[in-house]
Amino acid sequence: MNKLNILFVVPLILLTALSPLMGQSKKQVNAWKKEVMASVDGRAKMAQEMVDMVFSFAELGFHETETSAYLSGILEKNGFTIERGISGIPTAWLAKWGNGKPLIALGSDIDCIPKASQKPGVAYQAPIVEGAPGHGEGHNSGLPLVILSAIEVKKIMERENLPGTLMIWPGVAEEVLGTKAWYIRDGYFKDVDACIFTHVGNNMSVTWGDAGNNGVVSVEFTFEGSSAHSAGAPWRGKSALDAVELMNVAWNFKREHMKPTQRSHYVITDGGDQPNVVPSRASVWYFLRERTYEDMKKMYDDAIRYAKAVADMTETRGSHRLLGTAWPERKSYV
Ligand SMILES: [Zn+2]
Repeated sequence: MNKLNILFVVPLILLTALSPLMGQSKKQVNAWKKEVMASVDGRAKMAQEMVDMVFSFAELGFHETETSAYLSGILEKNGFTIERGISGIPTAWLAKWGNGKPLIALGSDIDCIPKASQKPGVAYQAPIVEGAPGHGEGHNSGLPLVILSAIEVKKIMERENLPGTLMIWPGVAEEVLGTKAWYIRDGYFKDVDACIFTHVGNNMSVTWGDAGNNGVVSVEFTFEGSSAHSAGAPWRGKSALDAVELMNVAWNFKREHMKPTQRSHYVITDGGDQPNVVPSRASVWYFLRERTYEDMKKMYDDAIRYAKAVADMTETRGSHRLLGTAWPERKSYV
């Protein structure tokens, strides 16, 4: 994949998004596009440095302290106004520059994933630090490229006195569906005319409207029973781990009768402490994915029902905690 081609995608879309509302001639917009391509090309070194810098930070969701300070700092130096700690999330921020409409939002994710520490540039598994987090999903590349594009487009907007506002936002804790819904709820996207989002991929492509992605519900089920010595008095124990295991078995049987569009997966986040102690507390964390709100809600309700049933079977108390949601993309009506 040609790195420079990827660099061009965002500024080109951005200029296209801005231009119809400004009544500029196609010839003029094409000239600006050529200009922005050349200026972005000239800053390939800066793109590489930003991408590598964020890669080196490799911070998990809600821990993006260095990443956020570094990226928002670059925008600040380039004339953007930064609002830090938005939606009550310490590592979240919003950068704005410009005046009036259109308001174009530019975003990408910045968190990494657990245990994906990896030396760059080698095609085999070689962690920098064994067991440490790492950018296994390429979230080190999106926002640096967005920032570079915004800086170069801003230069043209300034020179040509073009109206419009650029808004740059980070996908904080994206891997755990942590923040995007909060940004929306708090009204940060209320007046946005268009949102351009980038994500690294294995080809150069653009999607819009309903891109065929599933929505996700992230929910953790916790069971509480009572502990006992597993050999001395197992009859006194009510194992919370039994509830977790039965829940997973039931869900795996259920898969046979679910739509092929669903995806569901889980990890046991608390399975007890050691074998000779009946676990009094155990938790399982599910991601439930489907294409429509109705199907997602049905899966979510079914999982809660299953949790209640296994709590009953094992004489434990069950509860669930909704950790985050990401809803299916809006259908395109054009
Ligand atoms: Zn991602």
